[in-house]
Amino acid sequence: MRVDDVLRLLEQVGAWRRGHFRLTSGLHSPEFFLLSQAFQYPDTAAALGRALAERLLEVGPRPQVVAGPALGGILLAHEVARALGARAIFAEAVPEGGMRLRRGFRVAPGERVYVVEDAVTTGGSVRAAVRAVEEAGGVVAAVGAVVDRSQDGVDFGVPFAALVRRPVPAYRPEDCPLCAQGEPLVSPKA
Ligand SMILES: [Zn+2]
Repeated sequence: MRVDDVLRLLEQVGAWRRGHFRLTSGLHSPEFFLLSQAFQYPDTAAALGRALAERLLEVGPRPQVVAGPALGGILLAHEVARALGARAIFAEAVPEGGMRLRRGFRVAPGERVYVVEDAVTTGGSVRAAVRAVEEAGGVVAAVGAVVDRSQDGVDFGVPFAALVRRPVPAYRPEDCPLCAQGEPLVSPKA
């Protein structure tokens, strides 16, 4: 799927919105990704999973397992795994910090794993999931995302592929051009 096709698909299902948004950081932005909107439609989720699986096969060897950080990576991991004939598991935050594989999820020593996340900004949850997989004995062959929103790119120490690379502009309220135009401000996750 080409970048334009992915963006059009995301826009159709409300997963890519344009307007005037207050981000959780307090900054304002003219666009917003809410990938959970895409995963409510199984056909859309499957199409994104297939497309990302194809991209990942170009950068890292075929895995036995696809792992996502909870929550954003769970459904995507499932759809990428379906496309690859692999298992799908997820890592989750633990009280002592970081993430772990729980619920009986296991990775055999040396098994190849793709780690996937719906949207990457700083990559924090992906890094935690990569560590969880490595601590369990897996070898992370690649990291994938539907949208890479990082400003300057992220380095996970393994090949990284995203269907869309789109740094999202963010403004302090006092510098926001949309505020200056009097555009109504929306909190997108409400
Ligand atoms: Zn504003």
